[in-house]
Amino acid sequence: MRYVAPTSVAEVVALLAGDPEARVFAGATDLVPQLRAGRPEPSIAIDLKKIARLTEVSLEDGTWRIGAAAPTADLTGDAALTADLPGLVHAGALIGSDQIQNRASLGGNLCNASPAADSVPALVVNDARAVVAGPGGERTVAVVDIPTGPGRTSLAPGEFIVCFEIDRPPARTSDAYLRLIPRTEMDIAIVGAAARVTLDGDGNCAGAAIALGAVAPTVVPVPAAARALVGEPITDGALARVAAVCADAANPIDDKRGTITYRRQVAGVLAKRAVTEAAGRAGNGGGR
Ligand SMILES: Cc1cc2nc3c(=O)[nH]c(=O)nc-3n(C[C@H](O)[C@H](O)[C@H](O)COP(=O)(O)OP(=O)(O)OC[C@H]3O[C@@H](n4cnc5c(N)ncnc54)[C@H](O)[C@@H]3O)c2cc1C
Repeated sequence: MRYVAPTSVAEVVALLAGDPEARVFAGATDLVPQLRAGRPEPSIAIDLKKIARLTEVSLEDGTWRIGAAAPTADLTGDAALTADLPGLVHAGALIGSDQIQNRASLGGNLCNASPAADSVPALVVNDARAVVAGPGGERTVAVVDIPTGPGRTSLAPGEFIVCFEIDRPPARTSDAYLRLIPRTEMDIAIVGAAARVTLDGDGNCAGAAIALGAVAPTVVPVPAAARALVGEPITDGALARVAAVCADAANPIDDKRGTITYRRQVAGVLAKRAVTEAAGRAGNGGGR
């Protein structure tokens, strides 16, 4: 396995085009354990962390751009990003430990395509787009369309993610992400739930998005749960409807971490709590 550390997107495109066995990595916090477990080594391991566009976090013309290889610790350390997207930043801060977060990236979290990847539901409720580079140039694709199953993505051969784009949330809008793990530290989510809520001046819900993780092969957006909220204040009745719809939308596996019945119930409870948390922040003005 040859290690290369290019400094431009064009070099990565050329390396991937020239060798189908070459593979990109960012933090390698998924890649290295997988190689140690016996997965085949790539011919070339392409380090994305030396490319400025892939590691920068910036706000320009009302759009956040988060480099696909930026460590999640950089997101936690960004006060303006945390004010605008506290749920997404919190999801990144739940990944592993301090050591892991100093390496782990949103691009790796998404492209490893674990159903339990913590940042993905939070990216989805914020309508995040991925800027994808490849032999045909660059294209922009909704994050929700990238994972296609455990360990699989819709990226074509030779393609990789350069950065994520998220429009700055409007006033009185905020997000939240919650997960349940079987232990207090370093475990995989039994269920994850992200919510984004916009309130109008009277405290009624003017817009919402809810997405679940770890309850299906890929992230599950639940538009019916969002519809159960819009046009009303966030009451106990509305939250109960959100919980019921989310429990129904969950299609989890039965394993040692939890039964199907348990996971469905937890999906409802976490969705309800994530909506409550996001609405509380939105009521305080969101990031504005
Ligand atoms: C101890 C430990 C604890 C962990 N805890 C959690 C946790 O709590 N929650 C969680 O969600 N995950 C957890 N993980 C998994 C991992 O840390 C995350 O998925 C992390 O975000 C992966 O990012 P990375 O940059 O290290 O990915 P890498 O290992 O570099 O890459 C992962 C995969 O994505 C591909 N890839 C990377 N970047 C790109 C790109 N820009 N474009 C296209 N493909 C790309 C790589 O080829 C590889 O297939 C944990 C891992 C460890 C070792």
